[in-house]
Amino acid sequence: MKAFFTPADQRPQRFGWAPGSYLCHCSTCKKKFVGDKRAITCAPCAYAAPDPSPEPSNDDVIGQLQRCISELHSIRIRIVEERDKLKTENAALRAKVRKQKK
Ligand SMILES: [Zn+2]
Repeated sequence: MKAFFTPADQRPQRFGWAPGSYLCHCSTCKKKFVGDKRAITCAPCAYAAPDPSPEPSNDDVIGQLQRCISELHSIRIRIVEERDKLKTENAALRAKVRKQKK
């Protein structure tokens, strides 16, 4: 006769899985399994799930912030250059208008 639930698994706790002796119902694959009273997934589903992505290190965060600061600095330089160019153009246009009024 074919077993109607996954046999007991003794792998350590992971995500919604923990070993035990209760007959449970997996919320992922919907199969019955033997595990801890509070287990919500069977061991195969819990162990098939990918590891959560690691937290970025302080050095990673500092590096990101330094790249942002560097980018903001170059944006500021471009804005100042554009402002100075527009000031020059504006002064030239005003001078031209003054000449035409005379
Ligand atoms: Zn499952």
